[in-house]
Amino acid sequence: MKPRECLARVDAVRRLSPEILEVDLRLEEPTALEFAAGQWVSVPFGPKTVRAYSIASTPQFPTRLTLCADVAPGGIGSEWFRGLQPGDPVPFKGPLGGFVFTRADPRRPLFVAEEIGIVPIRAILTELYATGFGRRATLAYWARDPGWLAYDAAFRSLARRYPGFAYHPAVAGAAGAARDGASRLAETVTRLVADVTGLVAYVCGSESMIHRVRDVLVAKGLDRKSVKWEKFW
Ligand SMILES: Cc1cc2nc3c(=O)[nH]c(=O)nc-3n(C[C@H](O)[C@H](O)[C@H](O)COP(=O)(O)OP(=O)(O)OC[C@H]3O[C@@H](n4cnc5c(N)ncnc54)[C@H](O)[C@@H]3O)c2cc1C
Repeated sequence: MKPRECLARVDAVRRLSPEILEVDLRLEEPTALEFAAGQWVSVPFGPKTVRAYSIASTPQFPTRLTLCADVAPGGIGSEWFRGLQPGDPVPFKGPLGGFVFTRADPRRPLFVAEEIGIVPIRAILTELYATGFGRRATLAYWARDPGWLAYDAAFRSLARRYPGFAYHPAVAGAAGAARDGASRLAETVTRLVADVTGLVAYVCGSESMIHRVRDVLVAKGLDRKSVKWEKFW
């Protein structure tokens, strides 16, 4: 799908936690957008200033897109997102990016998310299981505290319904464990992955976390190219 200039309008705004907001957009131009789960849109803030937001919803609903943002960083993107109200116009360019899971790929996916880096992974997992993906998948997800684990209840429900889906959430508070996301996720991946044969990893969050997790997987013998990543910050 070639990216194009689009216009949408805010339909609804929800607060998932004090600083995580979800916004539903209704497409106006075009009225439906074809995209792959895991892709993102680019919102313009000036001639050379844009902010990227992953699409949290799935391609099954091409007339409405849901975006989800952590507004704690407090810059131009966060302030814009915080101010969105039903009826507001939202111009953007999309869909963009290659952080997508190809169903034809026979490998077993390991998803690793740090805080709001969960958004594209939420779209990918929701779509996979909603459309009959019977295979195994693992999600390791870290946030500073339980209130920051967006979509935690949905992942718990998915794990109950699909025994092949293993969900490993973690928060900073656990006694004796590393308190930052990069260290904690590197530890979790070290523990969870015994054998990298037939594995493909999807890692999203901070640059330092992506490096730490990739180093763990490569040290276990995984080919670098089998670690797909999306750097949010
Ligand atoms: C492909 C892509 C997809 C993205 N998708 C999403 C998304 O779905 N939801 C979302 O909330 N953000 C997403 N981001 C990040 C988003 O584009 C903005 O960077 C973010 O909203 C902060 O923008 P800002 O203008 O408020 O702050 P900025 O002025 O851009 O950043 C202020 C500082 O905060 C750091 N920072 C930015 N985000 C975070 C964070 N979450 N945690 C800790 N530090 C951070 C930046 O590195 C910078 O140092 C995505 C980024 C990329 C590249």
